[in-house]
Amino acid sequence: MTNKKAYKGNVIYSKDKDTLIVYDNSYVIVQDGRIVDILKDLQPDFPNENVINYEGKLIIPGFCDMHVHAPQFLQMGIGMDKELLDWLDTYTYPNEAKFKNIEHANEVYSQFVNELLRHGTLHVNCFPSIHYEASSILFKLLENKGVYAFTGKLNMDQNSPDFYIEDTNKSIEDTEKFIIEHKKSKNVTASIVPRFAITCSEELLNGLGNVSLKYNAPVHSHMCEAVNEMKICKELFPNYKNGAEIFNQNNLLGKTPTIMAHCIFMDDDVLELMKNPNCMAVHCPDATSNVNAGGIMPVKKLLDLGINLAIGSDVGGGTSLSIPRMIATTIQHSKIRNMFDNQYEAVNLQEAFFMATRSGGRYFNKVGAFDKGYHFNALIIDDFNMYGDNYSSLERLERFCYSGDDRNIIKRYIDGNEIEIKI
Ligand SMILES: [Zn+2]
Repeated sequence: MTNKKAYKGNVIYSKDKDTLIVYDNSYVIVQDGRIVDILKDLQPDFPNENVINYEGKLIIPGFCDMHVHAPQFLQMGIGMDKELLDWLDTYTYPNEAKFKNIEHANEVYSQFVNELLRHGTLHVNCFPSIHYEASSILFKLLENKGVYAFTGKLNMDQNSPDFYIEDTNKSIEDTEKFIIEHKKSKNVTASIVPRFAITCSEELLNGLGNVSLKYNAPVHSHMCEAVNEMKICKELFPNYKNGAEIFNQNNLLGKTPTIMAHCIFMDDDVLELMKNPNCMAVHCPDATSNVNAGGIMPVKKLLDLGINLAIGSDVGGGTSLSIPRMIATTIQHSKIRNMFDNQYEAVNLQEAFFMATRSGGRYFNKVGAFDKGYHFNALIIDDFNMYGDNYSSLERLERFCYSGDDRNIIKRYIDGNEIEIKI
């Protein structure tokens, strides 16, 4: 007898940014939650009861949402006519402040984690609120579901409203405590999460950089996001050449895994810093066009430069937790950008899918693809409700990203275990 399982279907995953591999009508062989092979035919003695038959359906890696604000799950689609800083003051800070209430946090974060999984996100990089207890609740909910995640406790000690601000030293102490308290988790890693340079003093950033180095903790923040944000950054930090240097000189850029959302306006110096293999820029197309940033990330340029790229929903700036939808929007925005700046081509499905799976998953240790040894973190896609039945598997993947939704995701697996969700 074998404890191997064989999942039969049309298997698709990214080999690299230019290549999607397709194994039609094949078997993914999984042992102890990891992929050991992909075969066209099974050995004759492979036990029938260990074959899980998804014939005709697509088997793809689970998605990576590498920038999402868990508390802002409550404010999706609200205030979309505002500029970023005005939107934060009017809607976001009052909303996030409510997560001081633990019951509220538990209720909202439970729904949030369920919704992530419903949309096929099995790997996530979360932005929490400043509250220690609420952030612990989010950490535990992710851990209990087996989600591969980075999440921490948000930091902000200046340019924030009276009802939603921290004391500098307490913010640093609590961050260190959070990392110590949560470091034993299997799939979830505690991260350092300064909101953005505007809401963090130099003293706070410096202290957080020291904590990050001490514990090798990943860093997650925003950078080069909006025209106004960058102007204020320059006024607040006149001694730094640009927004990236503020993080870099305080040990918060590239010393440990560093995930920076947006990265729309990067000059050559910043691009050089972001080429560090420890750094990743996250494109959030939905948020960029909802809350006016003043530009669109030059995705193709960054890919050509070899900068690590992922996709984020950025909810609530974004209005959907669906990463396949963000794959389509990434391509659409890239085409619009190309109309006004044709120096770079628009990105294609191969590139956007790569960003949303293999590339996004690079810090989570062998997720986001189906190489041998990778975790079987997978989605089963059933597109029976869509018209036209003689398309190739790649065409069906494209159609799912553009026109499908969570109803087409009929199963979710993490480490080979089926994940239950509330519908
Ligand atoms: Zn954000």
